[in-house]
Amino acid sequence: MTDAAALPGQPRGAVVSGPATERAVNVLAPNPSAMTLDGTNTWILSEPDSPLAVVVDPGPLDETHLRWVVDTAERLGKRVALTLLTHGHPDHAEGAGRFAELTGTPVRALDPALRLGDEGLAAGKAVEVGGLELRVVPTPGHTADSLSFHLPADGAVLTGDTILGRGTTMVAHPDGRLGDYLDSLRRLRSLTVDDGVHTVLPGHGPVLEDAQGAVEYYLAHRATRLAQVETAVENGYRTAAEVVAHVYADVDRSLWPAAELSVRAQLEYLTEHGLI
Ligand SMILES: [Zn+2]
Repeated sequence: MTDAAALPGQPRGAVVSGPATERAVNVLAPNPSAMTLDGTNTWILSEPDSPLAVVVDPGPLDETHLRWVVDTAERLGKRVALTLLTHGHPDHAEGAGRFAELTGTPVRALDPALRLGDEGLAAGKAVEVGGLELRVVPTPGHTADSLSFHLPADGAVLTGDTILGRGTTMVAHPDGRLGDYLDSLRRLRSLTVDDGVHTVLPGHGPVLEDAQGAVEYYLAHRATRLAQVETAVENGYRTAAEVVAHVYADVDRSLWPAAELSVRAQLEYLTEHGLI
């Protein structure tokens, strides 16, 4: 599959990109916004010779999208055998229950409340379906329940909202914590340095072919923002809203509510570390 537009029966608005890696195909959900970029990336993963596929993040509760994911897997000669969630935000997880009905699959996630079936996901453990191996990498920070999935055979990592294909993500205070997030970025950096990961398959936005560069950029960005917030507080900006208006003046106002959560996470971090 190389060109989504060439596929007969494709619902209006649905986008399937060509294989991002040998084992990964993205079906783009029709929920674009300032927060979700082009929409949620729903990933279909499978060994080339296997009839079984894993779907990561079915996306929003959108019947047309969910059915198109099933159809796309079938067109690839696959049957969906398992559904995984990177985290519980509705743009990734809201459709999971319906998708599980359509496919008859269990849903596995870190948060027990999101699971369907008996099995969860544990840090460091591997998930294996039809010869495809995914390693579970805990990456809390965007949310407490955020996971990434390392796909060693393709030198890739699925990052959910921990790293996006464009821009940077939010730390969703109070569930998300900045200290956790920085640790998670360092964990992802070690995958790129020690484990041969070169490609990021994000939850939103385009595939990133320079995974290490992306992680370094995220770490540098967080350090810059943290320093800006610290300076703003020193200069008398007290509330999170005041800090946002000062530090995030260059950011589209539609993103300020998200920025305020990130600022709250940063203020908490600075306070805990005795920096303000
Ligand atoms: Zn999210």
